[in-house]
Amino acid sequence: MQRREFCHAGVAALLAGALLPRGVMAGVYAGLQQVDADLQALSLQGREQVLPRASVQELADSLRGRLLLPGKPAYDTARLVLNPVIDKHPALIVQPTGPADIQSAVQFAGANDLVVAVKCGGHSFSGKSTCDGGLLIDLSSYRNVQLDTQRRLAYVTGGSLLGAIDHETLARGLVTTAGTVSHTGVGGLATGGGFGRVARRFGLALDNIRAVDVVTADGSFHHADGDQNSDLYWGVRGGGGNFGVVSNFTFDLHPMQREVIGGKWVYPIDRARDVLEAYAEHSMRLPDAFYLDCGVGHPPGDGPGFAVLDVCYSGPPADFERLMQPFRALGKPLKDSVGAVDYVALQRSGDFSDPRAMVSYVKDGFCEGITPALIDSILQGLEPDPGRLTQCYFQHAGGAIGRVAPGDTAFSQRYVSHDMMVILAWPPEADGPAHRDYIRAYWKQLEPHTRGFYTNVAEDNERAAQLQANFEDNFQRLVALKNRYDPRNLFRLNANIEPTV
Ligand SMILES: Cc1cc2nc3c(=O)[nH]c(=O)nc-3n(C[C@H](O)[C@H](O)[C@H](O)COP(=O)(O)OP(=O)(O)OC[C@H]3O[C@@H](n4cnc5c(N)ncnc54)[C@H](O)[C@@H]3O)c2cc1C
Repeated sequence: MQRREFCHAGVAALLAGALLPRGVMAGVYAGLQQVDADLQALSLQGREQVLPRASVQELADSLRGRLLLPGKPAYDTARLVLNPVIDKHPALIVQPTGPADIQSAVQFAGANDLVVAVKCGGHSFSGKSTCDGGLLIDLSSYRNVQLDTQRRLAYVTGGSLLGAIDHETLARGLVTTAGTVSHTGVGGLATGGGFGRVARRFGLALDNIRAVDVVTADGSFHHADGDQNSDLYWGVRGGGGNFGVVSNFTFDLHPMQREVIGGKWVYPIDRARDVLEAYAEHSMRLPDAFYLDCGVGHPPGDGPGFAVLDVCYSGPPADFERLMQPFRALGKPLKDSVGAVDYVALQRSGDFSDPRAMVSYVKDGFCEGITPALIDSILQGLEPDPGRLTQCYFQHAGGAIGRVAPGDTAFSQRYVSHDMMVILAWPPEADGPAHRDYIRAYWKQLEPHTRGFYTNVAEDNERAAQLQANFEDNFQRLVALKNRYDPRNLFRLNANIEPTV
C-alpha cells in the first residue's frame, strides 16, 4: 500500500471509530464484545439469578481478551473439557490475555456471587474446569514460555500446556518436571503435584516452582515466593486452585541432554504376575535417573491383554544395561521399543490423536511399596471387557520427591513410591454405568493397599470426605489459607478445602 493510501485508511478507521457506539469500539479492540441481553446464571448457593446486560457489558469493555456468551460457536468450543461426557454451560466465559483480565473476571464473579471455574489444559477427569451457570476463566489465550537460561528459570503463563515447556527448555539443554502427556495443562498439574519422567531426579513439578503470581478471590494480585507472601507460595504448591488463579509460574530448570533411553517392553498378560513382582522388587532400588512405569490390562476390542514396562532413563548410557538386568530375567518381551530417543518426542509419545474420543474414569491411590497382597488383588479383580480399556497402572515416584519434608509444601505425601491408578476408557456412546460399577468394585479391593491419593486424579466428589486425612498435618494450615484468601469459596471446583469462616 502507498503511504498516502495508508494514511487515508488510518484516518478513515479513526473517523469510523469516533462514530461507532462504545460497545462496537470495544469489539474492535478485543473481538466480539457486544452484549445484547441479560444473562441467566446460578449463584454460589445454586439459586437462579439474572446478570444485567449493562454490568456484563462493563465487564466486556474492561477486557483485552474475549468474553464469550451462550449461543456463539466460540462459547461452545471454550466450555468443553477433555472428558467428552462433561457437558456444562457456564453463564459466561472470559478468555483473558493476562493477569489484568483475570482480575476483572474474578472481581465480576465476586460481585455477582458466581462460582468460578478455571481451565488450563481441561484435563480434570471429573470436569472441574468448567461449570453450570458460573463464570469460566478459560486460560487458553494466555499461553507463553520464556526462558532465562543464565539463571536457569522458565517463566510460564498460567494457561500453557506442558508440551510448550519441554519444547522451549530442551532446545536449550534444560528441563523441568512435566507430566507424561504433552497436552496436559501446567495450571492443574503443577498446583496439585506433577509426576513425570524426570520427577525422581528433579522433584515434582510443584517442587520446581520458584515463584507464582496469583489472583485471589477478591480480585487482588499477589506475587508469591519464598520471601514474599510465602504462605500463599506454600499453599499453591499442592493446594491446587483453591486460593486463586495462577496467572504466571516461574520454574527452576536443570541441565539435561535431549537424548535419553526410552520406550516400552510389552509382555503377554499371562506374564503379568512376573512383571508386577519384578517391578515391585526392583523399581524401588533404581537410581533417580531411571523412571519406570508399569501397567497390566486389556485393550478395548479383542486384542490380547498386556503387561508393560515403560522406561525413561536419563543417566549415563553406559550404566543402562547393568541397571535393567533384573528385568532381562523376565525373558524376551513380545514388543521392545526401548532405545535412544529424543526426550521431547518421548514426552509426546502418549498424546491422544483424538483427545475427546474416549471417556476416561480413573481411581487413584498412593503406594508405599507394592506388596504381594496388592499384586494378588490386582490380578484377581482385573476383568477384560471388549467395550473398554481396562488397566491398572503404576506411575513411578520416590527419588527426589521423597527428599522434601512433608510440611515444606502443601503436598505432604512424600512417602509415595508409586501412584497407582485404575484407568478405564470407553467410547462416549457405550454403557458408562456398567463400567463405573466395575471400577468401584475393583477399587474396593485395591484401596486398602494404598495410603492417601493424588488430588489431581482423585478429585471427584466421592473423595471429598477424605481430603482432610489426605492432606495430613498440612490440612489446618490449608484451611487457614482458604479462610484468608477465599472465605466465600468462589474457587470450589477443585479438591476443595472448605473455608470455616
Ligand atoms: C491424559 C492425562 C495424562 C496425565 N498425566 C499426568 C502425569 O503424567 N503426571 C501427573 O502428575 N498428572 C497427570 N495427569 C493428571 C493431571 O495432573 C490433572 O488432570 C491436572 O489437573 C491437569 O491440569 P489441567 O490444567 O490440564 O486441567 P484443568 O482441567 O484445566 O484444571 C484442573 C484443575 O486445576 C485448576 N487450574 C487449572 N489451571 C489453573 C491455574 N492457572 N491456576 C489455578 N488453578 C488452575 C482448575 O480449576 C481445576 O480445578 C494426567 C491427566 C490426563 C487426563
